[in-house]
Amino acid sequence: MRKNIVAGNWKMNLSENEAIQLAKEVAEIKVSNAEVIIFPPAIFIPTISKLGLDIKIGAQNFYPKSNGAFTGEISINQLKEAGISYVIVGHSERRTILKEDNEFLKEKVNAALELGIHVIFCCGEELAIREKGTENEFVKNQLVESIFHLNADQLKNVTIAYEPIWAIGTGLTASKEQAEGMHLFIRETFASQYSQELANGISILYGGSCNPTNAKELFACPNVDGGLIGGAALKSADFSSIASSF
Ligand code: PEP
Repeated sequence: MRKNIVAGNWKMNLSENEAIQLAKEVAEIKVSNAEVIIFPPAIFIPTISKLGLDIKIGAQNFYPKSNGAFTGEISINQLKEAGISYVIVGHSERRTILKEDNEFLKEKVNAALELGIHVIFCCGEELAIREKGTENEFVKNQLVESIFHLNADQLKNVTIAYEPIWAIGTGLTASKEQAEGMHLFIRETFASQYSQELANGISILYGGSCNPTNAKELFACPNVDGGLIGGAALKSADFSSIASSF
């Protein structure tokens, strides 16, 4: 059986005190049917990790080399030492603002998996692509170029997050039909590339203006296994309500 996951991407928000407070509140969220993960800004990860809270911690980003002359970057090895067990790869903000392409994301996926860090791999189309009706091909290509070189064993440590770019931070949410349609397509793509058994076991999260009002409807879709949450993850009450929406 695949896992339900609710992951909070705090992005470049919060002061240290606010981050500590939010981490403590999120650790109090007790849901039996979902894994709860937080992705704080990297600078707060060691402090939050040392609190010893009952919560999984992930990194929003890293550089895919173990060490060396990469000024300003942080390696996955260093983040692992700081206490992370998850990492986000392929978030649209890094694809568009930081110009990370499919080939570079493949390197990041490999580097994380080599160290046993679970990858949440984001994919999703921009509005113009959806308006053209080519979103399936677009998302499939993202998977082909960054994920489909992995073997079945490696994929046990990968979760997919479908995040239509037009829905991220915009207040626009994919309808349940749009979300379920793409999640089913992604699962079927894994089934034809690997096997139905593998496809059935892979968690596929939805991301894009998910909030306490729409989470129940989205999570009720048969192929939606939770959410990657941005804005609504910054308020523990909202995040708690989303985490309790299965
Ligand atoms: C995200 O950045 O992954 C995201 C889904 O953001 P938001 O929930 O704010 O749309």
